[in-house]
Amino acid sequence: MKPITDLNSLRDRLQPTDRMPIVFLGHGSPMNAIENNEYSRAWTQLGRTLPRPKAILVVSAHWMTRGTTLVDVSAIPRVIHDFHGFPQTLYDQDYPAYGNPELAREVVTLLASHHGEEDDRWGLDHGAWAVLKFLYPKADVPVFQVSIDMTRGLDHQLEIGKTLSDLRDRGVLILGSGNVVHNLRKMRPGGKPQDFAQEFDQIFADRLAERDFKALADKKNWGSLLHIAHPTVDHYLPALTIAGASNARDELTFMTDTIDLGSVSMRSFVFHAA
Ligand code: ZN
Repeated sequence: MKPITDLNSLRDRLQPTDRMPIVFLGHGSPMNAIENNEYSRAWTQLGRTLPRPKAILVVSAHWMTRGTTLVDVSAIPRVIHDFHGFPQTLYDQDYPAYGNPELAREVVTLLASHHGEEDDRWGLDHGAWAVLKFLYPKADVPVFQVSIDMTRGLDHQLEIGKTLSDLRDRGVLILGSGNVVHNLRKMRPGGKPQDFAQEFDQIFADRLAERDFKALADKKNWGSLLHIAHPTVDHYLPALTIAGASNARDELTFMTDTIDLGSVSMRSFVFHAA
């Protein structure tokens, strides 16, 4: 099935089903959280298009752990302003959503074989709230985060996605937040996209559309391109979580498939029941 890059037609193609779509969003610069731009407008539109979830589980590039997969079980997740040197307005942003401790504890159990553990200290980092404030501006859907175990390989995150995928049938929106290409040292604000960024982004899109997730999680297959697109893989991993949570029957829709700042892919995608 050929993927479509058109958020406008997504609403027509979403089938009435109890199975929630799954979403990966390229979040890019923290400034997107307070700007009215093509990304924030697309996030607003997406929130209006998706079926309303009962809860949101976020895997953000900004919550990295070592040796464990933590699940935030707090009743009211605190909002973390995890960036430096930005305007005060960005630090004033709040996202007063409730958590969902009961469901979060179930997720800990689900992830038991992946060293799932409870956490009540993290909250919501900007990978989560900066996009959620556009998706669900009233902060009226319970939300909690799941961390990324950085000691494991890329394919581990595919497994995590697969393990979580049954939650889709219970009205849970699984949301990955990172970037398909993320190299802050090669940024060219206002300049042309870097060649490596376009190359990695296109290969990623092709493999994702072919459902060749193994290739996406294969370091050897990527070769040196992986390291230049992702000097560290934190922003890449949530895209693999979402790939892992899809199934063969899902349809794929791409959105905001542009390279921002020369070296940050804003490519985002939705898998939904066909
Ligand atoms: Zn980020």
